[in-house]
Amino acid sequence: EEDPLPTELQVSLQIRPRQVYSVQVNRSDTVQESRMKLPIVAEEQKIMEAIHNNSVVIVCGATGSGKTTQVPQFLYEAGYGDSKGPTPGLIGVTQPRRVAAVTMAKRVGEELESRSKSAYQIRFDSNVEPQTAIKFMTDGILIREISQDFALSKYSAIVIDEAHERSVNTDILIGMISRIVDLRDKLSQTNPDVKSLKMIIMSATLMTGSFLDNPKLFPQGTPPLVQSEGRQYPVTMHFSRRTRQDYVQEAFQKIVKGHRKLPPGGMLVFLTGQNEINDLAKKLRGALAQVSAFGTGARVRINAREAPLESDDLDLVETLAQGQDVSDESSGDEDEDKEFDVNEESVPSLKALILPLYSQLPTKEQLRVFETVPENTRLIVLATNVAETSITIPGIRYVFDSGRSKERKYNNVTGIQTFEIGWISKASAIQRAGRAGRTEPGHCYRLYSSAMYERDFAEHTEPEILHTPIESVVLQLKSMDLHNTINFPFPTAPERDNLERAEKLLSYLGALDRNGSVTALGRDLSMYPVSPRFAKILAIGHQHDSIYHVTAMVAALAVPELFIPQARLNQIGQEESLQEEDLAGETQTKAYNKAQGILSAHDSTSDGLKLVTALCAYMWAKDHDVFCAQMFLYSKAMKEAQRLYTQLLNIISLNLPGSVDPHKIKLQPPTKLQIATLKQTLAAGFLDQVAIRSDLAPTPPSMPRKPSRPTDVPYLTLFPTHAGRVEDVLEQVVFIHPSSILAHTKSAKTMPQYLIYSHIQRGTTATIAGSKLPKIWMHPLTAVTGVQLAALARNTP
Ligand code: ADP
Ligand code: MG
Repeated sequence: EEDPLPTELQVSLQIRPRQVYSVQVNRSDTVQESRMKLPIVAEEQKIMEAIHNNSVVIVCGATGSGKTTQVPQFLYEAGYGDSKGPTPGLIGVTQPRRVAAVTMAKRVGEELESRSKSAYQIRFDSNVEPQTAIKFMTDGILIREISQDFALSKYSAIVIDEAHERSVNTDILIGMISRIVDLRDKLSQTNPDVKSLKMIIMSATLMTGSFLDNPKLFPQGTPPLVQSEGRQYPVTMHFSRRTRQDYVQEAFQKIVKGHRKLPPGGMLVFLTGQNEINDLAKKLRGALAQVSAFGTGARVRINAREAPLESDDLDLVETLAQGQDVSDESSGDEDEDKEFDVNEESVPSLKALILPLYSQLPTKEQLRVFETVPENTRLIVLATNVAETSITIPGIRYVFDSGRSKERKYNNVTGIQTFEIGWISKASAIQRAGRAGRTEPGHCYRLYSSAMYERDFAEHTEPEILHTPIESVVLQLKSMDLHNTINFPFPTAPERDNLERAEKLLSYLGALDRNGSVTALGRDLSMYPVSPRFAKILAIGHQHDSIYHVTAMVAALAVPELFIPQARLNQIGQEESLQEEDLAGETQTKAYNKAQGILSAHDSTSDGLKLVTALCAYMWAKDHDVFCAQMFLYSKAMKEAQRLYTQLLNIISLNLPGSVDPHKIKLQPPTKLQIATLKQTLAAGFLDQVAIRSDLAPTPPSMPRKPSRPTDVPYLTLFPTHAGRVEDVLEQVVFIHPSSILAHTKSAKTMPQYLIYSHIQRGTTATIAGSKLPKIWMHPLTAVTGVQLAALARNTP
């Protein structure tokens, strides 16, 4: 027998550890050479050993160390995904972004010298074939697959990539798969046809204590963690003297200057979305000598079928907007005239190759960032945060960081997802800067001051699950047939009370049946990008063909206050200059009442309808500000409601293609018939928020005998309230808020029997049933009849 090679040589020649089974791969020399430079390749043996001996393994390594491209190949070479081997199931790799799923599948196929072995699946688009061994997919795809086959029997290993981002999907997948791994282990002990499943969690940052020491999540103890040595060259930070609002313009100026003054090396610019990127690309192409006119800068059409949404799909969000530049000059920050004097080298005159990189860009154009750059040319990539950890662009030496990103935000009331521009965390800023030091020392130009960074940037990005509406998370788990959400092994668990309340609400809405299992309606509701309550309203609106008005109502209800309350009229007369000629006292009240009359056109028993009427009329108004002044509406709030309406239509049309025309921006006020439907629809979403006139309740408490004003008529809530601020009590005495349309009912006697409310809030103290108690208001309100309620209740299990 031959002498064994010394270990260093074994590593450098890539002699693989002795294994029971392995698959031979013949890679080209170029591929082999570039693989050898990746730090993760040195850890192959350690990683595979850990995987052989454990069900769950965590791999941490800096961005660019080779995790995404190499770990799936390690698995493949060890026989995972090989139909003839002992572990024939697919290797599944999840990605939070479509761009990464597609480009990484392609890259791995090339490295394996076999395109068909590595494929991707994103929603409605896939190139998976029978011989595929490695499947890259978005995390949403895998969640859907779990709901169809809980044991994930197609797979032998699942790699959860980018776990440091802590998206809701990633967290849910890690929790689910920790259970599936156990299940497969147990099944394999009695049934030789069932093989065990491996889960590899990969992260660009070191996973910390609370994540690892979680016995609910990892009942077999903390999983082994393999860390690869990142090769990171020093990166010099340059902060701006002051933080400018128009960071795109700021980026433009710095790039142009930097391109002239900085020695050769690629530039990577972090912006927030595709419109911004295309705008800046156009400006830069005009200002810099270029290699070739590439790209048109035109907006790439959004492929509706590829939902779920990603942050750069929607550019509907207004930029940080109108505000002032922040004058936060930090004396320590560098003199901006000198910031590009980084080197004594004389700088040759270079051409520029400007490439955009964002989710909606066609794959072919995305992959251009990996191509070899022509001679005497500087690569300038304008990217969203896909370039932060998902995609490593070669040759970058200079990073320009706007410090912002588009983040998912949820409207507290409706659960509507919007993407808003906000500051990134310090951890993200450090990741971005790190992109400049991959192959040699680099520079990072931060388009914000060090004072801003210290004061306004959070340390870490919070797990997304902590600011997602909890009913949506519960509905998603239930859709995967997970009944016991309270015992679900969340990596970071939401509060137990909130989970319980969410389940109760979902039952009221008919999304769950008596056993707590998801109903067909519940599955429908999970398709809408709003919280389940509003999803139900939209779903019913759809059935009744009144989707546009219902959408307008949801948008209007989501904005806290559209109408100026009468009580505030006198105070705001001057500051907001309601009308051109100052109205005084009586005239003003008259005008106010007239406006209220117009807005409550056919119906004076629903605040929701008044909101819809106002929004519809606003859509047609020639001058929005004048209209708002005449109608006593807050013009900023109306603008917001209209923005939400358009955004909601857009999102619905992306999620349910063909269902609505997102460009329908002018609505006729609802007809009498539509009003009846709207009321019924609204009630269906608030079936758990019904109040009954207390003198008509089965056991009326002692109440003031004859209330004279509508706002003194006591009502009782029929169900525990979900409104948070008020304690959960079965029967709560509540009153009509003075700003409600119902407060203007002529006689207290004719007050409706049943009301549906959106919120309840604590008001000032009043004497109720002989004792001093805070008066609790309901608001906004809609009167419904007993017949309507009974009809609704029958439709709910
Ligand atoms: P990690 O997942 O640890 O961030 P990756 O596996 O994504 O690292 O990247 C490893 C290396 O492979 C990087 O240097 C990157 O530039 C390179 N790479 C990735 N995709 C491609 C591609 N399509 N073409 C050329 N190089 C690529
Ligand atoms: Mg990666």
